[in-house]
Amino acid sequence: MHDDPLLRNLNPEQHAAVTLPAVPALILAGAGSGKTRVLTTRIAWLLQQGHMSPGGVMAVTFTNKAAKEMLTRLSAMLPVSVRGMWIGTFHGLCNRFLRAHWKLAGLPQSFQILDSGDQLSAVKRIIKAKNLDEERFVPKQVTWFIAGSKEEGLRPRDVELRDAQTAKLVEIYEAYEEQCAREGVVDFAELMLRTYELMRDNDPLREHYQRRFTHVMVDEFQDTNRLQYAWMKMFAPPGRGQSVFAVGDDDQSIYAFRGAQVGNMADFEREYHVEHVIKLEQNYRSFGNILDAANELIGHNSRRLGKNLRTEAGPGEPVRVVESTSDFGEAQWVLEEIQQLHRGGIDRKEIALLYRSNAQSRVIESALFNAGIPYRVYGGLRFFERAEVKHALAYLRLIENPNDDTSFLRVVNFPARGIGARTIEQLQDAARSSGRSLHQSVGAVAGKGGANLAAFVALVDAMRERTHGLTLREIIEQMLQASGLLDFYRTEKEGQDRIENLEELVNAAEAFVTQEGFGKDAVALPVDEHGPGTLANDAPAPAADRVPDAETGEIMSPLAAFLTHASLEAGDNQAQAGQDAVQLMTVHSAKGLEFDAVFITGLEEGLFPHENALSDSDGLEEERRLMYVAITRARQRLYLSFSQTRMLHGQTRYNVKSRFFDELPEHALKWLTPRQQGFGSGYAREYQQAWQRGAGMGSMVGAGRIEPRPAAPALVPKAPSHGLRTGQAVFHTKFGEGVVLTLEGQGDDARAQVNFGRHGMKWLALSVAKLTPVE
Ligand code: ATP
Ligand code: MG
Repeated sequence: MHDDPLLRNLNPEQHAAVTLPAVPALILAGAGSGKTRVLTTRIAWLLQQGHMSPGGVMAVTFTNKAAKEMLTRLSAMLPVSVRGMWIGTFHGLCNRFLRAHWKLAGLPQSFQILDSGDQLSAVKRIIKAKNLDEERFVPKQVTWFIAGSKEEGLRPRDVELRDAQTAKLVEIYEAYEEQCAREGVVDFAELMLRTYELMRDNDPLREHYQRRFTHVMVDEFQDTNRLQYAWMKMFAPPGRGQSVFAVGDDDQSIYAFRGAQVGNMADFEREYHVEHVIKLEQNYRSFGNILDAANELIGHNSRRLGKNLRTEAGPGEPVRVVESTSDFGEAQWVLEEIQQLHRGGIDRKEIALLYRSNAQSRVIESALFNAGIPYRVYGGLRFFERAEVKHALAYLRLIENPNDDTSFLRVVNFPARGIGARTIEQLQDAARSSGRSLHQSVGAVAGKGGANLAAFVALVDAMRERTHGLTLREIIEQMLQASGLLDFYRTEKEGQDRIENLEELVNAAEAFVTQEGFGKDAVALPVDEHGPGTLANDAPAPAADRVPDAETGEIMSPLAAFLTHASLEAGDNQAQAGQDAVQLMTVHSAKGLEFDAVFITGLEEGLFPHENALSDSDGLEEERRLMYVAITRARQRLYLSFSQTRMLHGQTRYNVKSRFFDELPEHALKWLTPRQQGFGSGYAREYQQAWQRGAGMGSMVGAGRIEPRPAAPALVPKAPSHGLRTGQAVFHTKFGEGVVLTLEGQGDDARAQVNFGRHGMKWLALSVAKLTPVE
């Protein structure tokens, strides 16, 4: 049996796991031990052996990138078409399910997905309409309340009204649900809950899927929350005879803050009478020093199930540690090191920059951007979150669904059409009292404002008519013209970047069409009630054998599909698809992935571990697990870095290095900067000084490593009256963003030399020039 190419390279425990009979099983093992590989190989093996059909498997994971990775690994193993297979993220699979059964789920066919920004603005509108105080009902917290309730499976009527505050929150939750229903939109938690409820309440449908999915597999099981576990049980309940294969690592549980329950592992074992708990102890990913660092660090946690991890790969290179004087210096150092690695033959996509919070990426992004190094940011919805892109998407959404009030409000007066706040208030009142959408209520507003509103609605309706049957690319191009967005940004001073982003949207659509196989000449399907799109879902009562297959039942216009993609996918557009690009992401979104070289930046107390977690031991243990996840992403090289100062959220922070450094084995580390407290000198510092002497960013790139120079006497930063310091990122209304290189003089005489990238180097008199520090 070992001659089977699929099984040849597995160790005995992995082999046993892959070839288990179709019974519930739990694989519990540390990072890099091959859990995901086992899961993927098992799918391939079951298919190859004919134990299951491609339609019989459902495999779930957490991030888009991990899901893609799984599909890539699978198609490399077997010549199967993975397109129709139910392998994806929880949200992705729910979306697919609800697209197929929109009618049963009580959704409009072209329902759209609210991202977190849209959700926040939806909640703000309700708070305002209800005349509630935003101080008492902080919109962000309200969205957490709603998401939290949904993740507990609770609808407004199910929430216990403990006190007056909760009662009000529930009232908002209720209004929010009505608003979403009216607008035909769903948020992320709703995707899950809606699917769960439909499965729970519709016997034939449940029967169909339970019969269909003979194998259900969940990767990263430690991070499932209550609803996800209950959801899984709907598709494959205990005792039904399906094979449920769960894979996880308690040391990598990093979503407790969002309600993930490591306890699900114990529940699963008990409820499914799991007889096969398989442990994998050999790590195939990382060299010894990296693994030693990971093992020793996680050893500081007390609440663990306890697992071992060893490698046969030898110690490899030491883990490199670097201290910088500023976040800017850190970014420069990272940049230089990346170039070095790349010259040494490592692909850029094999280099990951990890950070604890999204806000940290900006400095590094701008260093990479200025140096012309392609990079991609994952997990932040970056591209699709840019204002101009959101405006364009709003127009597209209105083409797809005129009753989408969120989109309506976003662009009704953008570009300006003389529709003021009062007109909009009147319109909202009219819509509220009649229970209709804004689009439907336009007729109720009189006067000049009403006429302008009617003109806007006519514009959108005309766009819909004119783009009917066009390709996605043509639809977007038409919309950009007709909406006035392009003209608007052409007249704007800083508009060029925005136009480029809008053009990028066309590229994104093009890439999407190619990738998803909609075909260049695909014609948009009608989205009205009577189009062919409704056929599959109009099938007569869903007797067990008549339930539409989700693959064939899933009919969506390319536009609707693209809009869904825009809400579900992280912004993949900084680098073009397929381009070799450095990978930037938070530690959370790096879960399950691996890279040749990994940089973990911002290892400072308050940042990593995060300040919210410092005061309680559960929080601290979660941060440590997060750090364990970060370290174990690296195959060959690992860099840990921290900076004495950092600009975050508009403030300069003075940092102490992370406590995690004290929890790492000294023998595995190599300090590239002298290990000392306070404002040291060292490589990063010299580097920065060399830079400050005027080498400039542009000339440094490609010039190779700057020779370290003798350290200058330590500079203890004092806060001067203008509040600026060298290395600081600043904004100037004319020249845009730049970096302070030199500061001279005092008081009225103070001057700064600033590198404005595109506008070059400038000397500015600080008593005149308005420079604002950039976050
Ligand atoms: P994580 O906990 O980070 O998700 P994991 O347990 O899922 O890790 P995998 O990603 O499946 O681990 O495997 C880690 C690496 O080790 C992969 O590159 C995988 O191909 C490799 N690997 C796993 N098993 C073997 C093996 N038996 N022989 C060679 N390489 C292996
Ligand atoms: Mg994995």
